[in-house]
Amino acid sequence: TAKHVLVTGGAGYIGAHACKALAQAGFIPVCYDSLITGWRDAVKFGPFEQGDLMDRARLDAVFARWNPVAVMHFAALSQVGEAMQQPGKYWRGNVCASLNLIEAAVAAGCLDFVFSSTCATYGDHDGVVLDENTPQHPLNAYGASKRAIEDMLRDFGAAYGLRAVIFRYFNVAGADPDGEIGEFHQPETHLIPLILDAIDGKRDALTIHGTDYPTPDGTCIRDYVHVMDLVDAHVLGLRWLKDGKGSAVFCLGTGAGFSVREVIDHSRHVTNRPVPVIEGPRRAGDAVRLVSGSEAARRDLGWQPTRSTLKQMVGDAWRWHQNGGYGG
Ligand code: UDP
Repeated sequence: TAKHVLVTGGAGYIGAHACKALAQAGFIPVCYDSLITGWRDAVKFGPFEQGDLMDRARLDAVFARWNPVAVMHFAALSQVGEAMQQPGKYWRGNVCASLNLIEAAVAAGCLDFVFSSTCATYGDHDGVVLDENTPQHPLNAYGASKRAIEDMLRDFGAAYGLRAVIFRYFNVAGADPDGEIGEFHQPETHLIPLILDAIDGKRDALTIHGTDYPTPDGTCIRDYVHVMDLVDAHVLGLRWLKDGKGSAVFCLGTGAGFSVREVIDHSRHVTNRPVPVIEGPRRAGDAVRLVSGSEAARRDLGWQPTRSTLKQMVGDAWRWHQNGGYGG
């Protein structure tokens, strides 16, 4: 019989790609999404249940209807800048909402849980390559809210036997190479889609947030992972849980760090078009350098990122971008 997986945030960028990967792996992704930031048009690979994570009765009904074998929890607020200005929105929208979901999952007896955490839980670590054991000192309410949810999952594991695979994402980029789904935020705040907007005139220029960081070219360094590689790890994490291997934490990066200026340069080459740039001040809450190894994910899960070159990430994002996104 077909196995359903409840995918919160399945109408969002990463969640929609995860739904595709789950469907390809023989699962039926049940998308649970409020559509506050997600897109109905992104739900293409299984049933859709519109709902908010704060609505416990709705969650209980969805668990009862589909009897999922696991939860993949992507739904979240995810903008560092906004989190600095409206921390309450992040504590409520991420921590309270996730608490509701975790309690509903436990009540339904659905004890395998895959969670989207973030390298923003680490904060600044002076040039260190981060791994699962690096201490977490988040610089902003986004990272702090994700760290709190990690802690909550551990406590529910100890009390109720919940098993969680926690993935700490680095910077996710690119789009489905088939062009069915892609990255589309409104408003957009992420680097690569904003560069593409500047290239094709949808905005005047890309503003570099800070050029005086202690890095070789003065701009922040991030570790970019192709969204399809990232969601592959989630399917492997689900198998890990179903094989009874228990709770675990994995960093999902590639170990390669690129500065903002390097991403701009690659985007110019891939699209063969100029990128109008403005040099602006630092953005509050940004870490200087977030780069991870992925030894644990490779060793334990057998994860092999094969698409995470800037060339392919920008190329796939560009192809999607030229198709115009959702909701048009
Ligand atoms: N960035 C930038 N200009 C922008 C958007 C982002 O210079 O318009 C920088 C940002 O300061 C960070 C990097 O690009 O150093 C990646 O930012 P993004 O918001 O894409 O992801 P984050 O690292 O915040 O998760």
